Amino acid sequence: MDDTKAIETKLQAMLNDLLARAGAVEDDLRQPLDDDLPEQAIDLADDEALAGIDDVLRREIAEVRAALLRIENGTYGSCAKCGADIMDKRLEVLPTATLCITCARAAD
Ligand SMILES: [Zn+2]
Repeated sequence: MDDTKAIETKLQAMLNDLLARAGAVEDDLRQPLDDDLPEQAIDLADDEALAGIDDVLRREIAEVRAALLRIENGTYGSCAKCGADIMDKRLEVLPTATLCITCARAAD
């Protein structure tokens, strides 16, 4: 992995974007419920959907942060399972990948 700086910039941008989206979702969750009962049911259903999105966002944020940490400690781009280099092409598509293509396929 020669170009970790570019990947780091990309990951940082991804993180900022995810944090902005998570912030927007949380603002929406904090909105008070409508007094009207049918409206309240809709609000609750909406909030449940948002809570689901929030979980996905949280996981993505954790993955991006873990990738940035691996860049910091110099283990980025090595497979977490077999230690082989993860192909640049794979990291380009999936910058948060922790497994080489062989191990990722074996895990499926
Ligand atoms: Zn591997």
